Amino acid sequence: MRLSTVSSIFLILFMQQFRRVSCIYFKRSSGSLANYHARSISFKPVTDKVHSLVKCYTAVEGFGNDDVLLYPDGTINESCFRRQKLEFTKNKLYSNATKFYETLKGTKYLTRTGVYAAILSVCTQKEHLTFATAVFNEMIEMKIAPCEATYVPLIRCYSADNQINTALELIDQMKLLGLEPKLRTYIPVFEHMCLINKDPKRGLELLSYMLDEKIAFTSAQLVVLINSAISSNLLENLEFKTDLNNLIHRISLELLGVTNGQMQVVSSILSAKTLNEIKEQGILVATNDDAEDIYTSSNENLITENTDGNDSNDTEMHNMEVSVVNDDSEITQDLKVIVKSTNSHNHNLVGIIKDPNHGGQILQRGRIVDISNSTCTCPLCDGKLKLINLTPDEKERVRIALFKIAGSYSSTQAKNLMNFSEWLNQANLIKPYTYIIDGANVAYNKQNFVDGGFSFRQINMMVNKIKEKYGADPSCNILILIPDAYARQIVPNSVSSRKTTISKEQETGKDKKITNRKLSYLTDEDMQILKKFEDENMLYVVPPGGNDDWYWIYATVSATNPLPSYAITNDLMRDHRLAFLEPRLFLRWRTSMVMPFDFSSAIDNNHTNPNVYIQEPSKFSREIQLTDNGRWHFPSVDSRGWLCASF
Ligand SMILES: [Zn+2]
Repeated sequence: MRLSTVSSIFLILFMQQFRRVSCIYFKRSSGSLANYHARSISFKPVTDKVHSLVKCYTAVEGFGNDDVLLYPDGTINESCFRRQKLEFTKNKLYSNATKFYETLKGTKYLTRTGVYAAILSVCTQKEHLTFATAVFNEMIEMKIAPCEATYVPLIRCYSADNQINTALELIDQMKLLGLEPKLRTYIPVFEHMCLINKDPKRGLELLSYMLDEKIAFTSAQLVVLINSAISSNLLENLEFKTDLNNLIHRISLELLGVTNGQMQVVSSILSAKTLNEIKEQGILVATNDDAEDIYTSSNENLITENTDGNDSNDTEMHNMEVSVVNDDSEITQDLKVIVKSTNSHNHNLVGIIKDPNHGGQILQRGRIVDISNSTCTCPLCDGKLKLINLTPDEKERVRIALFKIAGSYSSTQAKNLMNFSEWLNQANLIKPYTYIIDGANVAYNKQNFVDGGFSFRQINMMVNKIKEKYGADPSCNILILIPDAYARQIVPNSVSSRKTTISKEQETGKDKKITNRKLSYLTDEDMQILKKFEDENMLYVVPPGGNDDWYWIYATVSATNPLPSYAITNDLMRDHRLAFLEPRLFLRWRTSMVMPFDFSSAIDNNHTNPNVYIQEPSKFSREIQLTDNGRWHFPSVDSRGWLCASF
């Protein structure tokens, strides 16, 4: 994007040394050009002497008022300064900020970029433009280097005043100064283009430019753009449509999806229905099973799997209101059965069971749908979603990152992980591991009751379940990772007592809901189970101090395993150090390689035998996908549905 020169803005920039000397003169009225040698002016904190003066003043009548910002002798009431600044910044109190500014103008207390940024932050409307430019100019005259935060309010005010070119010019100025614009820098300009000027073409241009500049926008901006395009009838324009599809394609590599609310908005504007109609329409599903599945996944943590045809989900289903409706006029050939959930915490769930013989109907332009793991197919448009696995290169990045994390603990931890890697490579030569059990996660599942604890029996039940479910496949091979603290007795030459407390790291790395964990001596049964695991080459004990998560993650991305391998864990690692993976890769890995599980109840001393559930990994990736029929599918980031849309 080429920005036009705006005569009322003048910029002279001195960059004699990077970030050391920078000077800008910004003046709208005179048009004069001035050079200023920038010098670093740091904020002078209130000295001890001033502190004692302030204390002294508080004892003097007339000086004790907390609201006095500046005392007559020119010293400042520091607590008042902080409080007022916080107040007007937080609550965007324009008049308070202007008073604050007027009081301190010309004093040494207005000599810091941060204070100017705070004052400017209240400027949000075109009426604030004069004040904002005056403050900004004074800051420059004081030879205080501006920052991104001091530019944003100006950009906001100029945008609000419909001076879009000036606002864009300011962004260029920032870049010349070495200040990196952020998403928030562009948003006022973008929103004014789309929402006020109804110029989505220019909005689209700006978003494309931002992507060129490596500034990813969010689903919120995408929704604003689509909304603006529809209200301007631009979706009928072929050139615009092509540009929009290209833009979505580019952002689909960054965005994880859209929110449920955004899906409803887009669906509403694309299909010219009100939001209430969209909510009433609900989620389009292909089969009754899918409707049940949505219901249970929305209401229960329990994973649906009718192993014996008699699990608790059946009872839940009886409570659902199932009725025939006739108001979904656009899907005339559907069998309109509505499955309503009265206690869904996500939204008022409505599943419409669609007649498979729907050929010939005109597809809605936007519709919230559920895509079943059994078919991977959108029930509205029949588009097939694909599974996108980690590439070998991406797997390598994960491995490297894991070594880095382990190395950041200690060289011993990195060495231990390397030993595991070598052990795994050897083992893979014989028979690759395909199911990796996060032992601690499985053993502690549902054990947050008084006598609960690390349950070897639960791990054993999980092993049996995997064998039962996947054992017929000759490649099925199970690996269990157990932290050293839980398997001491079988570690050769170990002299440590098995009765130990869990390390802080293990405690925080696992389910925080579990409290009062304690370890006791392994029972004979525990020992037998461990012995069996060891005898069947299923066990790897994570050395002391190591985080077992590194190990089971590593096992799923091993370079020497030609088969897909899955981690059985409920550890979603939302707050984990998996920041090493960019969000999309992390999601891709989690979708395709992690199998969550559940027990219908915990195993306790009564030796109950709960049902074990394992959720199949998704057969398609929960990523924004363009299916072969040219329709976009956006996963919801906060609910289960998808938005099927055509632009
Ligand atoms: Zn679709």
